[in-house]
Amino acid sequence: MNYIFLDLEWNQPTSFEKLKFKDGLCLNAEIIQIGAVKTDDRCEFIDSFDAKIKPKILKKFNKSVKNLTGITDADLQSAKTLGEVIENFKSWCGTDYLFFTWGYDDINVLGNNLQYFKMDTSWLPEFYNLQIMFCRQNKNENKQYSLSFASQYFSIKVDKPLHNALTDAYITSLIAKKMNIKRGIKDYNVMVFKDKSIPEHMKRIIYKKSYKAIHGYNNIIAKTGIMAPVCPECSFPLKITNKAKKGLFSYIVTGKCAKHGTFAKLLKVYKTADNTFSATEWFYTVDKYNKKYFDEQIAKMRASDRKKYGIISRTIHKIEEKNDE
Ligand SMILES: [Zn+2]
Repeated sequence: MNYIFLDLEWNQPTSFEKLKFKDGLCLNAEIIQIGAVKTDDRCEFIDSFDAKIKPKILKKFNKSVKNLTGITDADLQSAKTLGEVIENFKSWCGTDYLFFTWGYDDINVLGNNLQYFKMDTSWLPEFYNLQIMFCRQNKNENKQYSLSFASQYFSIKVDKPLHNALTDAYITSLIAKKMNIKRGIKDYNVMVFKDKSIPEHMKRIIYKKSYKAIHGYNNIIAKTGIMAPVCPECSFPLKITNKAKKGLFSYIVTGKCAKHGTFAKLLKVYKTADNTFSATEWFYTVDKYNKKYFDEQIAKMRASDRKKYGIISRTIHKIEEKNDE
């Protein structure tokens, strides 16, 4: 298994009016550079990838992006198209790999660009936000530390200007090398790309997680933490704002972190043929666009739960408790 540390640079519209919409998708960031570093699973360097991309839509090079990245108009004029670069990048990635990025932006911009230009997104692997791992393992504070902060923290010498995709990807890989990545992966709820097949109101998904082959209903409920969800950013317990269940197998809880906002956690539990339990968990940011959806779902679930499962669920719960003992 290889690790791929990914960083992108993108051009942005010069003013809000110039946002380009197509089929309900908006291109507010067009990729102009893909930088990546491939390592083995001990974060030892294997290879690097660096390509500039000629923008198709946001052709006017935003001045602040130009200054920040050091990319010139000439660089972009002679660059390949996104389609060509992605094909090269995919074959460079190989077959067995995970993505690591610093923050959430890069993977979302990549996904958004692929969708906007009607390109395949199914190859996008699971990805890990190293920024969150860094906070958990080193600073234990709920801040969004910059790449430059983390490199200073580990005394990593940066001899090139940051905000070049390849330099940033390389620095990210050096930071990862200083961390316990294997543990980080194990502790982490893997990120999924916000796929287009997800309904509009559910696009604020943060992660999806599966639990498998767990003995006892109470154990799986405890393992998923559905009764006391924590903030995905800082791991502090959320202050529960609303919740509902349907029988014993469907749950929705919404809760608030004072620092990071409101979240919703959905859980579906399944009983398997071999008498163990599995579950799938979805975690969402709740905002003005999807708050109504979760409130309605919760109201619906609560009504149906009362009607159908009121007595049965208490009975099953008791049986399950006995089985667990
Ligand atoms: Zn938080």
